[in-house]
Amino acid sequence: MQKIEHIGIAVKSLASSVPLFEKLFNTNCYKTEKVDSEKVNTAFFKQGETKIELLESTDPDGVIARFIEKKGEGMHHIAFDVVDIEAEMERLKKEGFKLLNDKPKEGADNKMVCFLHPKNTNGVLIELCMEKVQK
Ligand code: ZN
Repeated sequence: MQKIEHIGIAVKSLASSVPLFEKLFNTNCYKTEKVDSEKVNTAFFKQGETKIELLESTDPDGVIARFIEKKGEGMHHIAFDVVDIEAEMERLKKEGFKLLNDKPKEGADNKMVCFLHPKNTNGVLIELCMEKVQK
């Protein structure tokens, strides 16, 4: 794993959270994107090398909606850059970590992603992400 690529924050509403974070960071949101596979709308900010991803559920049964129901809004996951996501998934599986998906899946911002089960990682939801190769 390499540097922190982004930190994911679960919010109820991008309409109210985007202006809030724009004020907080004193910078504009540079991108919003709907990710159907995750049932979320995302909004991205860049602070130095690190991105912040705000996540709003598009479905009352989506993972973000359920997360907010249980824990409230706030820190949701930490994403790390990986060079070879399949190799990293294989390595982590061998180490006994549980992966939430068997194959890398489409994430926001041109990434292939995989999540680790937070039960094996002291409650921290970790995302591996790899920049998709341009075809
Ligand atoms: Zn993420």
